[in-house]
Amino acid sequence: MAVLLLVRASPGDQAGRRGAPGAATGGRRDAAMEMRPACERCGVDLPAASRDAMVCSFECTFCRGCTEQRLGGVCPNCGGELVRRPTRTG
Ligand SMILES: [Zn+2]
Ligand SMILES: [Zn+2]
Repeated sequence: MAVLLLVRASPGDQAGRRGAPGAATGGRRDAAMEMRPACERCGVDLPAASRDAMVCSFECTFCRGCTEQRLGGVCPNCGGELVRRPTRTG
C-alpha cells in the first residue's frame, strides 16, 4: 500500500482565526501568457514556427509586413519595440 500525503480536511482546526482579511486564494486566471496566434493588425496567421512574427515586450504580436511597413517597428498598443519572435525549436 502506498498512501501518499492524504489531504486532511479537518473542520475543527481553525484556531487563531480572528478578523483575517480573507486574503486566501481569490482569483484564478489561467492561460494569461499564451502567445497570440495571429497578427493583431491584419489577422494573418502567425504560428509558433513562423519566422515572420514580431512581438513587443508585452507580447503584442504582429506580422513582419505590418511591423515594417505600417508600424515602423513600434508596437501601436504600448509603444514598445517590436522584435522578431524566436521560433520554437525542438
Ligand atoms: Zn499583419
Ligand atoms: Zn505592445
